[in-house]
Amino acid sequence: MAIRRWWRKLLGRLRALAAPGAFVCDSCRYDHPRSCRNPERPNATQCDDYRKR
Ligand code: SF4
Repeated sequence: MAIRRWWRKLLGRLRALAAPGAFVCDSCRYDHPRSCRNPERPNATQCDDYRKR
């Protein structure tokens, strides 16, 4: 689903702009080593896979 991916990417960028320096992982439901293998976790400031907890 290209549109979903595009939408998530846009939301991630908007979040990073709204709170510069904030770590999006803090409020992400995947913020756990078993759920997320992104090397930027837990300090990602922008993430296409972000899902609100
Ligand atoms: S999916 Fe992204 S925002 Fe969520 S925990 Fe992993 S790196 Fe952080």
